[in-house]
Amino acid sequence: MKKMLKNVLVGLMVLSLSSLAMAKEKIYVGTNAEFPPFEYLEKGEIVGFDIEMMNEIGKVLDADIKIQDMAFDGLLPALQMKKVDVVIAGMTATEERQKMVSFTQPYYTASQVIIVKEGNNSIKSFDDLKGKRVGVMLGFTGDVIVSDMEGVKIERYNAAYAGIMALKADKIDAVVLDSEPAENYVKQNSGLQIAEAESAQEKYAIAVRKNDKELLEKLENGLNEIKANGTYDKLLKKYFN
Ligand code: GLN
Repeated sequence: MKKMLKNVLVGLMVLSLSSLAMAKEKIYVGTNAEFPPFEYLEKGEIVGFDIEMMNEIGKVLDADIKIQDMAFDGLLPALQMKKVDVVIAGMTATEERQKMVSFTQPYYTASQVIIVKEGNNSIKSFDDLKGKRVGVMLGFTGDVIVSDMEGVKIERYNAAYAGIMALKADKIDAVVLDSEPAENYVKQNSGLQIAEAESAQEKYAIAVRKNDKELLEKLENGLNEIKANGTYDKLLKKYFN
């Protein structure tokens, strides 16, 4: 009887150990779900190109992707404080940020554009923003670009949608935002247009902590794999046609 009990106990231990070994690795990912079509909320769920891509990378790595939504300017601090291990948020791999974190290879090329009210022909280039009230999103690359310009009255917003609302209400003359979300917001809000203005290209990449070489390598492998097996192209088609 005693022996049987012992066998049962040993059996249970082996079972629980093996289920531990089988439990998938979890990767905690921070994003800011206010940046369509890269990340946004749909019926309360975080969806978008970045999210799907991250989940596909998770499949390659056999890891569970756990997404957390937070303010954009809180993302890199959350990474540093180990609240998350990865940031994917249409984030441009700027030199400034590269001092703090490591980025994967780029996965998307974008640029900053100017959104104005329909029929506003006074703003056609970034130079035309001088003397105008311009909305930017706190800590975005657009914020950095416009902050470097002289004579612009900057209004900073926490989220792109707040800037769009301010523009519609004539509280500001223009919004500077990344090309893809800008097009998205213009499509979804009548009375807005993208001014004919091009700016330097910027590249989006996935961020990890500076010394996290292991995770960086895993993500690179995942990205290489989904680029090689057609998944990445499928996602590009789905979100940007
Ligand atoms: N690409 C811009 C940046 O990195 C905006 C990103 C975002 O708002 N999600 O600052």
